[in-house]
Amino acid sequence: MKSVEAGDVVKVTMDVSNIAAHQSQAPVEEQIVEKPNFENLRPMERAIAEREWENKKKEEQRLLKEGGWRCAFCNTVNGSVFGTCSCGRKRYESEELMRNKAQAQKESEESNN
Ligand SMILES: [Zn+2]
Repeated sequence: MKSVEAGDVVKVTMDVSNIAAHQSQAPVEEQIVEKPNFENLRPMERAIAEREWENKKKEEQRLLKEGGWRCAFCNTVNGSVFGTCSCGRKRYESEELMRNKAQAQKESEESNN
């Protein structure tokens, strides 16, 4: 069963009985990517870096909305027309890794609770 789409951020806080219904319609949420640390840049550089970061995020969101995908190996977002990332990994490899990660995270959360 395909329960989690690649890159979905699934927070398991709901009643277990709702999970199946929820996952079948899981939205492509904003994928959480750590923001780089701009603290040690000079103000001008920092302003530019912040703006570039925002633009990059917007572009990534647009690509993802249009069926693009985030490479799980290098974190690059690729358009839907690309089946291979610039790092050489295939889309299905990335999705498989994402699924494994999500599964591992879910299992560790379950064992923590
Ligand atoms: Zn990649």
